[in-house]
Amino acid sequence: GEKNYIGPDAIIDKKKEYLIPCVYHFYKNPMQLVRAKGKYFYDQAGKEYLDLFAGVSVMNAGHCHPEITDRVCEQVKTLQHTCTIYLNQPIVDLAEKLAEVTPGNLKKSFFVNSGTEANEGALLLAKLYTGNSEYIALKQGLHGRTHLTMSITGLSFWRTDPNPAGGISFAPDAYCYRCPYGLEYPGCDLKCARAIRDVIETSTSKQVAALIAEPIQGNGGIITPPPEYFKVVRDILDEYGALLIIDEVQTGFGRTGKMFAIENWGVTPDIMTMAKALGNGVPIGAFTATEEVADVYTRPGASTLGGNPVSATAGLATLKVIEEEKLTENAAEVGLYFKNGLENLAKRHRIIGDVRGLGLMLGAELVKENKEPAPDETDLVLEKMKDRGILIGKNGPSRNVLAFQPPLIINKKDVEQVIATLDEVLNEVEKEAGLD
Ligand code: PMP
Repeated sequence: GEKNYIGPDAIIDKKKEYLIPCVYHFYKNPMQLVRAKGKYFYDQAGKEYLDLFAGVSVMNAGHCHPEITDRVCEQVKTLQHTCTIYLNQPIVDLAEKLAEVTPGNLKKSFFVNSGTEANEGALLLAKLYTGNSEYIALKQGLHGRTHLTMSITGLSFWRTDPNPAGGISFAPDAYCYRCPYGLEYPGCDLKCARAIRDVIETSTSKQVAALIAEPIQGNGGIITPPPEYFKVVRDILDEYGALLIIDEVQTGFGRTGKMFAIENWGVTPDIMTMAKALGNGVPIGAFTATEEVADVYTRPGASTLGGNPVSATAGLATLKVIEEEKLTENAAEVGLYFKNGLENLAKRHRIIGDVRGLGLMLGAELVKENKEPAPDETDLVLEKMKDRGILIGKNGPSRNVLAFQPPLIINKKDVEQVIATLDEVLNEVEKEAGLD
């Protein structure tokens, strides 16, 4: 039997009392999650949930993976922390491994504790290398919570700072379903990518340190640019001597059917940032740069716990599991099957306006008449899916995009269960909303 847990109501009371109110949660009737294994969560009452959000793309190798857990526990018992002022092996082994698995000639890494910190460091490195201090980002991007990373986050839902940093210009997103120019791919000739030249020419001093972008915008609504997008962007940046920083915090480590999502566009960034899935639940972040860029950062830099032996061991164990269990390949294959399933649902359910994404990073945008966003219906779908034992996510500027980002260990049978359940739930929601 299950232990005596305090339960969701008591947790909500304590949360209200002791957590800063910005810490929000999903669901009208939430559960208390008490344990997890592989692709499943379990709540205080012993109910099982298929996890299709993986803590927003964190648990790529599945929850409490035995090999990763064992190696992390062993490291905790042997050598937890040294700080980088003393030599230890896991951090250099992980850096060597990242040089191997990252695309192109990305090679040298600096380790931190989160995606926010990785981006903050990458932005500094771009400044040091170029001698420039302006940045470009995309309107629906999300890059973190600190002053600079929040300032460079265009997505308004996550832009809380009333006085963000200056020197940042925003370029339009490659959001084909709601094209900022009202055009259609490929006739549009990638106007959104080419607009980066106009942004540089008209909104900056032309002394741009870098453009930062997610390959697929996660919180922005699984916005997936057309195949030529990043090549066009890269060429424009090269002309102006600006670096390309690719934020793989949410898309990295097999998620999109490639080790890193940017590989789907055949482009190599100058700096790549990672976090989340690298530790499979253990906090870790990193930015990795080409040798040429990395080598300008010679002034002392240290992160007390960044790349500590436990986190670095988690990273090494996670990468080993991703490779040995062929999770990237599984994400590609099962992801395609999943996307087909969603596209078939879209044919039967008017509420699904668009299906997009790659591998196991998929989105379904819910709309009413004339593409009007349907955030309330999105919430209803999430709640009903949860009641039926399936946890999905939501995102997008209007909070109306269903997000499917499961551990990369799910199989086609799981997908069939999800599609059948979603079909049922959408029937109910469409009926209740008068959209059928
Ligand atoms: N970049 C992206 C693309 C993210 O999705 C997130 C978190 N949602 C971050 C950066 C920030 O990462 P962290 O929460 O680890 O600081």
